[in-house]
Amino acid sequence: MSEITQKPKRTVRFQTPERPPSLFHTLTDEFLIQVGKLLLPGDPLPIPSFRPHFENPKHPFENRLRYNDYLAFRETCHRVSYLSKPVKGNLEIEIKNKESFARWLKAPQDVLSRVTRLRLNFTLETTANCPLQQVHETAWAAFISLLERLPNLLELYLAATPFCWHGKHGQTLMFELPDSTESFPSIISFANETKCRGCAEHLTTLFYCMPKLKHVKCTSQDSVSQDDLMEDPYDIFCNLDNRRFVESIETLYLKYWDLSTFDSMQVQELNRGAPNLKKLVYSSHKIEQPYTLRQRARVEALSHPTNGQWIFLTTGDPDEDRTIFHGQLPDFADLWSPLRNMEEIDLGIILNIPQYTTKPQIPSGPTRNAQPDQISAESSFRVNVVGHEIYRAKYEQAMIAATKYLKTRWGTLKKVFWWEDRDKRTDSPTRDYLRWSANIVEQEEASENPIVQILIEGPERMDHSFTWSDDGSVYPEVEDPVDQRSPRS
Ligand SMILES: [Zn+2]
Repeated sequence: MSEITQKPKRTVRFQTPERPPSLFHTLTDEFLIQVGKLLLPGDPLPIPSFRPHFENPKHPFENRLRYNDYLAFRETCHRVSYLSKPVKGNLEIEIKNKESFARWLKAPQDVLSRVTRLRLNFTLETTANCPLQQVHETAWAAFISLLERLPNLLELYLAATPFCWHGKHGQTLMFELPDSTESFPSIISFANETKCRGCAEHLTTLFYCMPKLKHVKCTSQDSVSQDDLMEDPYDIFCNLDNRRFVESIETLYLKYWDLSTFDSMQVQELNRGAPNLKKLVYSSHKIEQPYTLRQRARVEALSHPTNGQWIFLTTGDPDEDRTIFHGQLPDFADLWSPLRNMEEIDLGIILNIPQYTTKPQIPSGPTRNAQPDQISAESSFRVNVVGHEIYRAKYEQAMIAATKYLKTRWGTLKKVFWWEDRDKRTDSPTRDYLRWSANIVEQEEASENPIVQILIEGPERMDHSFTWSDDGSVYPEVEDPVDQRSPRS
């Protein structure tokens, strides 16, 4: 027998062929359809989509912006365009020039029926030979007829208008409202953000024709005229012949001017005009450039030196001689508590703890010709200079205690905002703030004495560059103005 020598087996490895790269045309239809679906915007924008006067991020208004990725994907090639359906959803449109306005006036009804959100944002240029009144009246009539052809419009913004014309005196009432108070039954959210004082005042009354209106942003009449003797912040509610239409309002963002806005009569008017308010946000701005946010209401929080208990004094801006907003915080809560549906308030109130500071204090210098014994008195301080952490802890304690005071008297509240003056400088034309929120959490809410917990969140930085607002601050263009500074005269 011959010996068979067995050679060790050799393993042969075959190189695995490289997978060819996936090319676009090799992707399956199902895959492309799925990609298209993922590029569609998620939830619809919330309503209201407008923000308070002191929050001014860029508003991605046109729905096309939200569909940009999807539309770009559709334009990749014929196949993708065939597989992904054209956008047929709701339309959110911004009219930015007269050509676009003319196109929308002629749009077919099936397209108009898809419009859910509209922003009007252009003015007509005026020329010397142009019959101004006629042009602007025509634009107003055309706009009203357009609104009447939008049966599914939910939200209306007025940013700039082609019918901004106010006669010789700037305050002429130009806008005749439609006869029916039910002309725009679908609108539930309305923001009048016009810069012109005349339009800010008159156009807000459009909401008399919106029977289901829930959310409003506007400039109060006292802010437009800055004359609390002539104008009332809540005239918009009081001049109504038929109040049932504003009773539906749940949200009000109001730019106000005078601290009489907080007075008892005005609070009663607010309660009568909008008894179902759930959310109220105030802001107050300088009416001249740079239109800085200038919150006028203040609460001075003082802690007792021995037991540490807080007391709160309401007061006005120290630079202005306004004493209407004064007293103790519980009285303020009693005054406002008849608004029985209110859940969230941001009344633009600055909370201050004057006994504490983080900055070393330099006494003010003696005044010329002061008596020598006065000088030492003026230079003395009883302010505690503390570290940043202790200051924050004290400030938080004050916010919690102030919110509890309000909650005890005004039981429906769920959220209260407080403002902190960042620099406390009065010589600067601009103001920067911090905004804090106090969330009220009730355990065993149904019981008679629920345990109330206050959770502080924030702060949000509210710098002048973000918060300034010129809504309702710009004088209207008038024919042959007598005095630019005073269109009324
Ligand atoms: Zn105007």
